[in-house]
Amino acid sequence: MEIKKGIAVSPGIAIAKAMVINSQDYRIPRRAILPSQLDVELKRVRNAFASAISELKELEKSKSISESNIKDIFAVHMRFLRDRSLRKKICDLVKKDLIVAEYAVSVTLREIASHFASIKDAYISERATDIYDIEKRLLKQLIDSSNQDVEHITEECIVVANDLSPTQTASFDRRFVKGFATNTGGRTSHTAIVARSLGIPAVVALEDVSSVTDVGATVIIDGNRGVVIINPDEETLAQYEIYYEDFARLEHELDSLRELPAKTRDGVEISLLGNIEFPEEADIILDKGGYGVGLYRTEFLYLQSKSEPSEEDHYEAYLKVVEKLKSKPVIIRTMDLGADKVVHDNHFQVEDNPVLGLRSIRYCLQHMLLFKTQLRAILRVSAISNVKIMFPLISNLQELLQAKMILRDVMEDLDEYSVPYNPDIEIGIMVETPSAALTASMLARECDFFSIGTNDLIQYTLAVDRANERVATLYSANDPAVLRLLRNIVYDASKAKIALSVCGEMASEPENVLLLIGMGVRTLSIAPAMIPEVKKVIRSVTVQHCNNLARQALSMNSKRQVSNFLRDAAIKILPEAF
Ligand code: PEP
Ligand code: MG
Repeated sequence: MEIKKGIAVSPGIAIAKAMVINSQDYRIPRRAILPSQLDVELKRVRNAFASAISELKELEKSKSISESNIKDIFAVHMRFLRDRSLRKKICDLVKKDLIVAEYAVSVTLREIASHFASIKDAYISERATDIYDIEKRLLKQLIDSSNQDVEHITEECIVVANDLSPTQTASFDRRFVKGFATNTGGRTSHTAIVARSLGIPAVVALEDVSSVTDVGATVIIDGNRGVVIINPDEETLAQYEIYYEDFARLEHELDSLRELPAKTRDGVEISLLGNIEFPEEADIILDKGGYGVGLYRTEFLYLQSKSEPSEEDHYEAYLKVVEKLKSKPVIIRTMDLGADKVVHDNHFQVEDNPVLGLRSIRYCLQHMLLFKTQLRAILRVSAISNVKIMFPLISNLQELLQAKMILRDVMEDLDEYSVPYNPDIEIGIMVETPSAALTASMLARECDFFSIGTNDLIQYTLAVDRANERVATLYSANDPAVLRLLRNIVYDASKAKIALSVCGEMASEPENVLLLIGMGVRTLSIAPAMIPEVKKVIRSVTVQHCNNLARQALSMNSKRQVSNFLRDAAIKILPEAF
């Protein structure tokens, strides 16, 4: 039995056999296969060689190779890839040791490379570099194909991987993927956010979990405590079966709050909305007693489809949501691609600092056709529903003015063809950069509402990558710098008399719910699954008490002090939430 501690990102307990996905960085662990998997593994070796050969041919065609040394390199690679004895050697190793294809490829080619490197002939020893390249070429084929396999999992399992992209996570079929564990990641990474949306228990930042877990090993994911147990003993298994039942009972109890208002003990109503990535989640918001959609992350439409969505694709997705929500509000955020949400085609160039790069609204403003297509679809649904439009990652007033101007252009186009829409549609922005927070009073004059995206706001304020487990302890909603910016934004919104909500992950953390209410926030938008728990927190407090807590928190000078203080307060109010 091995116990690993990481960051809990999606609550719940799951117990199932491991399906291990290989890492992109090509550090290939020795992993065993079952005798029944042998044929599949040998086929993977053959396919990897065939695909690597085709890829090399394509590459040769696409490059105008005039230089003879480049031609030579391609020729060497091709010779190796066509060498039957090399393929046989790898297959024999898979058969003999019952190991995954990746490991056999890696071991075999590294052996050859070090043999070449030891020969005292410059020409031959330099060929070692080519062998490493060939290893990479083959591993890429094997790893890409196993990544695609993630989309087609058809047996119950726990996915264990180095990392998972939000797109891969979004493709999980909940019936089969019971939970996941990754080496990397942070609490507010989009992979974690999608896990919560799908209700899949998950733990991230487990360092080497993908190397130490064998395919088929029994794994427990404890998404409440941030623990993963590999090959649990009988006693641990029995203990976890009890935890599982306790958790299910607690969820059931919380569901009884469905029809009750999200009102504090001193009678202040808090509007509880849901964040969604897929239209299907609109049902969960209603089931859990939420009042509307506070954030629809429409970029998942792009991430899930192989080609760019058409206006009709957008329209149909939005229609599904608004039909379910009837007259309730639905805030559609225009696409927020980039950073960790990238589509797998040529749209996005590789950037050194994608989080600071051409992402989100910046990308839309430079890709007018794509932007207008989405805006047209949003406007069309506005004719029949209570939708609002929200621009992400606004970092200066000019960006907002430009986005509004494009929206007006689209309205004029629709007028020309007499297509109905709501000309008074509310326009809001996400306040998620320090520059927007600091100029909130200027931005507030040009829009109808703010939604504070604390996931990004914290990342940019503290200069801490939200998805990087190595700096996860530096990432905190309770840092005095973050508290001050939040206070400013709330103040500026209220002065300008515009609506304000918080839609980052902190809005679903009980201790931070107290803080936000105390700072004057009256609308929270959170993962639908968290609505009952947050409603319970709201119903257990008074605004006066929250005001006191916020005032004291703002006077403290370290994030640890603030976190401990808020946690203690929350435990007193609602011990069962911890
Ligand atoms: C945020 O940044 O807080 C937010 C809600 O948007 P996303 O998590 O999609 O970046
Ligand atoms: Mg954001």
